[in-house]
Amino acid sequence: MLEKNLKDISKKIENTAEKCNRQSKDITLIAVSKTKPVSLIQDAYNLGIRDFGENKVQEILEKFPALPKDIQWHMIGHLQRNKVKYIIDKVALIHSVDSLRLAVEIDKEARKHGIVMPILIEVNIANEDSKYGLLKEQVIPEICNISRLSNVAIKGLMTVAPFTEKEEENRKYFKSMKELSVDIMKENIDNVCMDILSMGMTGDYSIAIEEGSTMVRVGTGIFGERDYLK
Ligand SMILES: *Cc1c(COP(=O)(O)O)cnc(C)c1O
Repeated sequence: MLEKNLKDISKKIENTAEKCNRQSKDITLIAVSKTKPVSLIQDAYNLGIRDFGENKVQEILEKFPALPKDIQWHMIGHLQRNKVKYIIDKVALIHSVDSLRLAVEIDKEARKHGIVMPILIEVNIANEDSKYGLLKEQVIPEICNISRLSNVAIKGLMTVAPFTEKEEENRKYFKSMKELSVDIMKENIDNVCMDILSMGMTGDYSIAIEEGSTMVRVGTGIFGERDYLK
């Protein structure tokens, strides 16, 4: 099942990229492995996947030591400041930075480890009460502040689009994210680049790719439904 899912998704990414004159190598598939066991992650690794997304610090801490060291772990969930210290030396990219306060903490812990931590700024693009992330109009001022921290590097933006059965409905939000990233680029802020647009999940990743996504985060489509009760 896993092998077929991965094949189908890679194919769909390739086809979508081709359709909009993009190269599939510019789109990273992140396998969202939250709630899934180490054995299944190892299977995906054996099929060539190297980027995995998790949304809980505790799960990263459990899975990290049990799996190959060349995995790139992506922190995609809400991150509490007091937990930054546990994952700072384990994750390749933190997608979910939505405040200066959190960025200051990441900067402090990164400095202790002598690293510069790549981060994305999370945007609540549809203005949903239930979602984390900065509102669109807050993004540029907050990026200006965060950019002054020398041990974090802003690499782009991330969003979790609204849940919908009709993926077309999210196109406007993905477009809006792309526009925002272009606007930010035009500001020419030191220490800020907009190479990464992390958007698109199982239900809407091909629309996200059409609108410029460079990282799609797919869980259910790869590993099947999640069982949160286990
Ligand atoms: C769970 C999760 C995903 C993956 O969702 P699917 O619909 O299972 O593909 C992507 N991004 C974030 C931030 C998530 O928490």
